[in-house]
Amino acid sequence: EDGVTVEELAEKLGKTPAEVIKVLFMLGTMVTINSSLNDEQVELICLEYGYEAKKVNNASALNFEDMDIVDDPADLQPRPPVVTIMGHVDHGKTTLLDHIRKSRVAEGEFGGITQHIGAYQVPVNGKKITFLDTPGHEAFTAMRARGAQCTDIVIIVVAADDGVMPQTREAVDHAKAANVPIIVAVNKIDKEGADPDRIKNEVSELGLLPEDWGGDVPYCNISAKKGIGITELLETVIIVAEMAELKANPKRLALGTVVEGRLDRGRGPVATLLVQNGTLHAGDPIVVGSTFGRVRQMLNDSGRSLKDAGPATPVEITGLNDVPEAGDKFMVFPSEKEARRIGEERAKIKQEKERNTSSAMSLDDLFNQI
Ligand code: GDP
Ligand code: MG
Repeated sequence: EDGVTVEELAEKLGKTPAEVIKVLFMLGTMVTINSSLNDEQVELICLEYGYEAKKVNNASALNFEDMDIVDDPADLQPRPPVVTIMGHVDHGKTTLLDHIRKSRVAEGEFGGITQHIGAYQVPVNGKKITFLDTPGHEAFTAMRARGAQCTDIVIIVVAADDGVMPQTREAVDHAKAANVPIIVAVNKIDKEGADPDRIKNEVSELGLLPEDWGGDVPYCNISAKKGIGITELLETVIIVAEMAELKANPKRLALGTVVEGRLDRGRGPVATLLVQNGTLHAGDPIVVGSTFGRVRQMLNDSGRSLKDAGPATPVEITGLNDVPEAGDKFMVFPSEKEARRIGEERAKIKQEKERNTSSAMSLDDLFNQI
């Protein structure tokens, strides 16, 4: 029997085994800490604690992307913001991300080498900011196209010596469509002839009225290369995040989005996940896109091994059967049996879809040949 035990379920729900045993006792079932629970019992306990395990145990769990996640407001806690940097090519996105990533190593809190896992966290005045470090907005766009909304704040980088360019407009459009707060970073102010005020004028015409002109968009003048204005930019992110009152429930089973997936020769499928709600634990049974497994190794962006990862934490995990795609959703299930059932079913549906599209294409090819 592969069911979840009383002890495992209690841990996932943030309760003591005694509490879980008591709930079942009140419902007329005697169990011990090591008892394996059946689906119905898991469902009853989860319901008791306000979790919608019911959905996990029926067909709708197959489409967990569309599940309504309802948390008890009492369980909600502030979480770090997830930030994406966008802008025209060569305006300094990579330089800015690199500068921010390196500067936190200097802060000593993270000590050591940072890994490149597609996302990272930096400490700012005792708070944290999570940066998505995916290549440009292609990934952001791809993720959004797949319904993955995992950015809370967008920083639009505009080079002071170049101004608004086609991809600047595109980035602004994406940020507006995502309905998230925007911060404008006017970059390269160290360059000779740079005129940040002219840029501000240009950018404001995209409907981004600066705060100091009575609007609600913060503008920061920076030099990503020289490290000028970055502290102010990060502090602005914290202020904007606080106004957004971002919250999540660290007690629930984790769910979130795949930032990157790849096959490592030694370690097998490796995925960078962004935990968006709940806490991900080493050992958790998990469905990721149309693959599944158990979280075997979990590393943070410094390559350090983690047992638990709360909301807005980016982690790299192994233990999946297959490589997921960026933008895939993941969700932890109460038991490995459940994760396997849902994962296998989703894989089957995906195969079916792929077969249909490929046969449709060959039909097209056929017509093309006639
Ligand atoms: P991306 O395409 O938006 O990622 O732009 P990059 O970060 O690759 O930067 C493009 C070029 O601009 C590189 O040669 C950078 O060194 C340079 N650059 C980036 N930020 C600054 C800056 O603040 N000042 C100056 N002078 N050059 C910068
Ligand atoms: Mg770049």
